[in-house]
Amino acid sequence: MRLAISTSAFVLAAALSLPLAACAPEAKEAPVAEAPAAPAIAAFTAGADVHAFTIGDWRAAAVRDGGGEFPNDNKTLAINKTKADVDALLTANGLPTETLSLSIQPLVVRTTDKVMLFDTGAAASFGPGAGKLPASLQAAGVDAGAVTDIFISHGHGDHILGLVTVDGALAFPNAAVHISGPQWAAMQADTTITALVTAVTPRVATFEPGADIVPGVKGVDIQGHTPGHSGYLITSGDQSVLFIGDTMHHSVISVQQPDWTIAFDGDAPTAQASRNKLLTDSAASGQRIFAPHFPFPGIGKFEKKDDHFVWVAEQ
Ligand SMILES: [Zn+2]
Repeated sequence: MRLAISTSAFVLAAALSLPLAACAPEAKEAPVAEAPAAPAIAAFTAGADVHAFTIGDWRAAAVRDGGGEFPNDNKTLAINKTKADVDALLTANGLPTETLSLSIQPLVVRTTDKVMLFDTGAAASFGPGAGKLPASLQAAGVDAGAVTDIFISHGHGDHILGLVTVDGALAFPNAAVHISGPQWAAMQADTTITALVTAVTPRVATFEPGADIVPGVKGVDIQGHTPGHSGYLITSGDQSVLFIGDTMHHSVISVQQPDWTIAFDGDAPTAQASRNKLLTDSAASGQRIFAPHFPFPGIGKFEKKDDHFVWVAEQ
C-alpha cells in the first residue's frame, strides 16, 4: 500500500514537472520582476540587562546601566510632602518605604541604516551600582563604534557621563551627538563637565526644541527639569515610543502624584505642569512610553485610574 502511494506521488510529480520545464524561462524571470525584499533589521540579543522589543519595523532595546537607592527622607523626591505621605503612597502600591529605587536604562534603536542611542548612562558617577551600559550594549550585540546617533535628553551626569570612557575619550567615536541648543549652551557653561564638553564638541549637532532631527526621531520640548530638556518621539510606520527623559523619575510617585516636587527639577512648577500635561495627553492617546528611570526595562504606558494616573509596564 505504501509503495502504491509512493508510486502514484512520483507519477504525479513527474507529470507536474513537465509544464514547469516547458515554462522554465518565465519561471526564472518572475522573481526578478518583484521588488526586492526590505533588508531584515538584526534583532538585539535579549538577556538580563537587555530587554528587546520593536517599534514598527525597527528593533529597540532597553539596555541596563544600573541604578541607585535614595533615602526616603523628602530630600530628593516629594520634598514638599511628609514622609508619612510618601510611605502611604508606597505602601498602597506594595513598595518598601525604607528607600526609593531609581533605575537607569538608556534606549537603543536599530533602523535599516542607523544605530541610535538615547542617553548614555552614569558611567562611574553613581558608584558601582551603575555604569554598566558598555557591557549591556555588548551583551545586546551592539559595537560602540557602530552607534551612528546619540540623543541626549539633558545634561545631568546620569544621562551624559557615558559619552566618554574613563580615559576621557569618546565612548562612541563615530556617533553624532544630538542635543537641544539651549541644553548644549547650559552644558558648555557647566564648569564641572568641561573635559567632557571639549571631547564631544566635534560630534555635537544641536537642534531647536521640538524639531524633527533625523527621519523618525522628533525632539519633544518638555520644560522644567533643565533648560532645553528634551524628550524624543521615535516613530516607525504606525507605531511610536515617547522617550521622556527626566520628565518623571519614580514610576509611582511621579505618576500618581505629579505635583510632588523632586529636588532635581530646576524649575519645579514648570516641571509639574509638564508632567501633568504629558500624563493627560499620553493616557488619552495610549502613547507608548519609555522612561529611563522607571523599573527596568521602563517601557509601558500611562492609564487613568479613578482620579489619578498609573504606570502600566509592558511585560
Ligand atoms: Zn536622570
